Amino acid sequence: MSAALASTAASVREAPAREFTGQPDQADASLGGIRKLIGEMLAPKVIDVDLKAEYPQEFLRALGAAGGYAGAVAPEFGGNGLGLKHVIQVMEEASKLCLSTGFLIWCQTACARYIQMSGNTALQAEFLPRIARGELLVGTGLSNTVKSCDTIEDFRLSAKRVDGGYLVNGVLPWVSNLGPAHYFATGCPVEGQARGDDALVFILVDCQQPGFKLVDCAHFVALDGTRTLACHFRDAIVPDCMVLSHPGQSATYIRRIKPGMILTQMGMGLGLIEACVGMMKQSNKSHAHVNQFLDDQAGDIDAVLQDARAASYALADALSANPQAEVVLDVLKLRLAGGEYSVKAAHAAMLHMGAKGYLQKSPAQRRLRESYFIAIVTPAIKHLRREIARIEGANAAANTAAKEAA
Ligand SMILES: Cc1cc2nc3c(=O)[nH]c(=O)nc-3n(C[C@H](O)[C@H](O)[C@H](O)COP(=O)(O)OP(=O)(O)OC[C@H]3O[C@@H](n4cnc5c(N)ncnc54)[C@H](O)[C@@H]3O)c2cc1C
Repeated sequence: MSAALASTAASVREAPAREFTGQPDQADASLGGIRKLIGEMLAPKVIDVDLKAEYPQEFLRALGAAGGYAGAVAPEFGGNGLGLKHVIQVMEEASKLCLSTGFLIWCQTACARYIQMSGNTALQAEFLPRIARGELLVGTGLSNTVKSCDTIEDFRLSAKRVDGGYLVNGVLPWVSNLGPAHYFATGCPVEGQARGDDALVFILVDCQQPGFKLVDCAHFVALDGTRTLACHFRDAIVPDCMVLSHPGQSATYIRRIKPGMILTQMGMGLGLIEACVGMMKQSNKSHAHVNQFLDDQAGDIDAVLQDARAASYALADALSANPQAEVVLDVLKLRLAGGEYSVKAAHAAMLHMGAKGYLQKSPAQRRLRESYFIAIVTPAIKHLRREIARIEGANAAANTAAKEAA
């Protein structure tokens, strides 16, 4: 696996000139400030986020003020020009301590990027600067949309074209980073359109709008501080000014947003795996004589981590330069490795730490619970394996057909 990740990193390292032009010292300065903020504001809250389901709202707002979301937004709307690599690095820093917060940063920056990638310039000008600064907190309800486009489940929302907008009905069971004054993006089919990816409308939803309500119904073994709520639409009219992509544009829109949406989730895996390697090394200071008999050693997992990090940054630069770069299969394989190695690293850290790791406030057992989120959040391991098999099968069939025709 490590060799495959290293080759992914090498194959995309020569990315074309980037549209985002931020400099490395600018990134270092930004990340330095963010690390300090995480140490001061997030570190003391981690156990409350985990055990009391405390939503780290103040930290999320402060992170925006410190430029933590600015990689997802173009400079003319308050971005920093550092692109998706910066987004991943910020998530990584938070996820080293707290996966809930790492995921909330993904929600915020993924939604910002969906707006950034839309053709709706008025919406961009109105929302992106406030999202980048953390004044407005936002989510993404695209799991069902993505799974339905990949024919894994049925669409849970439907829209009907009406004068000046779309009438939306249905329920999305779990959307995170929400609250009464928040917004989120989602996408669903429009009645009367032909089926398929090009028949969808993508919208930004105001959680206070008529016909919409948030319902608190699910509680989780980890990530419970992420304000994950059910979203009920009952004849909710979403006006055209809140549309990110109309039918007829949506297939291209999905191709623009999806690879970056999936890749940036690597920030969660990289941060969590690094924390697990740290716990294993710490435990080895006193227990190396016995830990050496465990299957997964710190050095092996660390080597995979370094390759995965290099591959993530290289792919991030490629997608910042061109959101439709031909890297989809590389992204899916890397994200699959991210899910698999998160669980493996957390399991290894737990075995290294032993009974100390089994205490209710120990990070080891928390990281284990959190790691399964990376494995099951859309796209889950099973979803990724299915998509990889589908794409590789189609590529193999095309190669065979080309050889037969030659
Ligand atoms: C803590 C947490 C936070 C999440 N935050 C978000 C978010 O911000 N945005 C977002 O779009 N999704 C979110 N999800 C949903 C997540 O991405 C997956 O869609 C969900 O975990 C189901 O995936 P699955 O592979 O288990 O589904 P499957 O194995 O395909 O389905 C398993 C079963 O669960 C049901 N199911 C499938 N999807 C959902 C769903 N979304 N909610 C409830 N039941 C479902 C299915 O009908 C089926 O019965 C979150 C999930 C969790 C656990």
